[in-house]
Amino acid sequence: MNVVPPPLPGLHTRRCVRHSAREAAARCPECGGFFCRECVVEHAGRLLCAPCLARISHGADVRRIRWARCREALTAVAGVAVLWLVFYVAGALLLKIPSQVHDGSAWRRLSAHPHS
Ligand SMILES: [Zn+2]
Ligand SMILES: [Zn+2]
Repeated sequence: MNVVPPPLPGLHTRRCVRHSAREAAARCPECGGFFCRECVVEHAGRLLCAPCLARISHGADVRRIRWARCREALTAVAGVAVLWLVFYVAGALLLKIPSQVHDGSAWRRLSAHPHS
């Protein structure tokens, strides 16, 4: 799909910054430079010059990689947190239940009030 931008006023008097013999066909919205049709590339509905396109796509890659690393770290932290919670609850239960069972107080209380 080729997006042909509406002709900008005064564009025909401009020359491509790379090809001084050619008339400018588009203006890069990122750097504001004038470029001929060959020097711009369509990206997300905009016509960008090659350096700006490279910069933007590289930035998107870096963000994707950062987010992936962030997600890995979050997953690791969540895993540790879940493990910690499991051991904490298990430990708390082990500390509570056996103490009453082993010293017999739980059974004494039951036998003292069998119908309550
Ligand atoms: Zn540009
Ligand atoms: Zn050009």
